[in-house]
Amino acid sequence: MAPNPIAPPAALQAAGSGTAAPPAERQAIIRLFGVHRRYGARNALNDIGLDIFQNEFVFITGPSGAGKSTLLKLLYLGEPASEGQILVDGLNLARISRKRVPELRRRFGIIFQNYRLIPTRPVFANVSLVLEAMGQKEHLIRKKVDSVLRTVGLEDRHGALPPTLSGGEQQRVAVARAIVGNPKILLADEPTGSLDPSSAAIIMALLQRYHRRGATVVIATHDHETIRRTPGRIIQLEQGRLVSQPAAEAP
Ligand code: ADP
Repeated sequence: MAPNPIAPPAALQAAGSGTAAPPAERQAIIRLFGVHRRYGARNALNDIGLDIFQNEFVFITGPSGAGKSTLLKLLYLGEPASEGQILVDGLNLARISRKRVPELRRRFGIIFQNYRLIPTRPVFANVSLVLEAMGQKEHLIRKKVDSVLRTVGLEDRHGALPPTLSGGEQQRVAVARAIVGNPKILLADEPTGSLDPSSAAIIMALLQRYHRRGATVVIATHDHETIRRTPGRIIQLEQGRLVSQPAAEAP
């Protein structure tokens, strides 16, 4: 396979090179301290304290309504926390100015259960938009998008409109879009929730592959089968509270 230009920055390559630092020296890339999220009187998240370390592969699980999606949204400032502190890669989300929100968002690639592709734009454009928004040059954009579509096995579907693709293929486009900007953190909200088992396995393999390149991967899911098959730390939420948070192991 051709070398892939979505290789992570040098710092991430070091983290993923198999020379993981011992646990005591591991760096948290995401830190939550006493985080609450309220919707009116409803407490969607209640006093969450959590560290996620660089190059971890983490599942956030729990029943429907437990607060999994809300937790992911708080990380990229899709919504603000009602109380508490969140640090992402050194940025304090409570203090970040509106001008710096795009800088925060560039740290993330995000994948949703329902793909969230633009149905009227071809596959290529759905992926290239990310790089256009970053102001990258056209020839580089073409090269990166070609490469990432090869990575997800859709090199022959550049011109297809999303509704003409299967659910599994659409989610592969969504993975391509999420990783093309080479983010440090990949967030996925029920990424396999709408997929048959073989498509789900392909998506999980792509997420694991991106993790091996040095990224931190956080997946909200209640798909027990996927969790059972995939090594990673499991963080459990119930009614907005963390009910179990095993200590992070060295990757
Ligand atoms: P999960 O992803 O685990 O299914 P969510 O994070 O979507 O859970 O929701 C957690 C709780 O917060 C639920 O009780 C849900 O109804 C509530 N909630 C989520 N988003 C909103 C919102 N925008 N307005 C009001 N309540 C919300």
